[in-house]
Amino acid sequence: MAAQVIDGKAFAAKLRERVGRQAAQFEQAAGRKAGLAVVLVGEDPASQVYVRSKHKATVAANMESFEHRLPADAGEAELLALVERLNADPAVDGILVQLPLPGHLDEQAVIAAISPDKDVDGFHVTNAGRLAVGQSGFVPCTPLGCMMLLTDRLGDLSGLEAVVIGRSNIVGKPMAQLLLDANATVTIAHSRTKDLPVVVRRADIVVAAVGRAEMVKAEWLKPQATVIDVGINRLPAEPGTDKGRLVGDVDYAGAQGVAAAITPVPGGVGPMTIAVLLRNTLVAAYRNEALDLPE
Ligand code: NDP
Repeated sequence: MAAQVIDGKAFAAKLRERVGRQAAQFEQAAGRKAGLAVVLVGEDPASQVYVRSKHKATVAANMESFEHRLPADAGEAELLALVERLNADPAVDGILVQLPLPGHLDEQAVIAAISPDKDVDGFHVTNAGRLAVGQSGFVPCTPLGCMMLLTDRLGDLSGLEAVVIGRSNIVGKPMAQLLLDANATVTIAHSRTKDLPVVVRRADIVVAAVGRAEMVKAEWLKPQATVIDVGINRLPAEPGTDKGRLVGDVDYAGAQGVAAAITPVPGGVGPMTIAVLLRNTLVAAYRNEALDLPE
């Protein structure tokens, strides 16, 4: 039987709708809209697309979107001064600096300058620490979105074997932490892992966050595993077409014959990321006004 498709697009649409409703309630209670500030430095085309779609989604969710664009040659002092202004601005609940930054800017220094209570991307070391020790803070949007899809599908994850492939600070590590908090037995695999197929084979849950097209083969999977494919990879264009197809880190067609459920690429994890960003911003707004987030 073919694996069920985990429809991240539909799940994200529902989440955005709920956030939009709660944002309208926030506006009534607080007398202002929840606000997300997005900072874009330079003209990286992919970043411009992301920033545009974040702006549209923010406005559609009844929140205020503040866009700040700096030229590619902006200095670090200028960027840090902008972050400081946003930290101090009571209309701004969440701050997101679009990465990657141009090479002359120190990303870690810029992330460190964002107030942890406005760090809706969850990249600040304080939020990484809060996640590590089980305190409430902001969790990076992509792994939190993966977790929502997993718990929606599987319910209680207690005792399940989970293998996360990838150990980046923005996906792999927080993903592993969330799975651990949900009482899964977690293995983190990476480029030095020996015999990855054998490691993956024991997983009830596989989260692939590598960035290598279709690397995870169907034969690696345990029958009836649940597969979350975070990877976004563009294949070379076929002759006669101008753009190559987007694929994940998992051989989707093959995995469909083995897994119980799998996220497609596109339409799986990707749409969850912005929806969770909106959710994190809403949570920040309610916290800033010391209001209780309604159900
Ligand atoms: P990074 O490049 O930061 O991390 C990749 C990880 O994969 C590293 O830990 C690396 O190991 C590991 N890795 C590389 N090669 C192998 C291999 N052959 N076998 C096992 N592990 C390997 O990437 P990100 O975490 O930022 O992103 C991962 C993927 O997810 C990318 O395709 C990215 O585009 C996508 N992504 C999607 C998002 C979405 O919204 N859907 C959001 C964020 C990312 P090591 O540490 O040893 O180098």
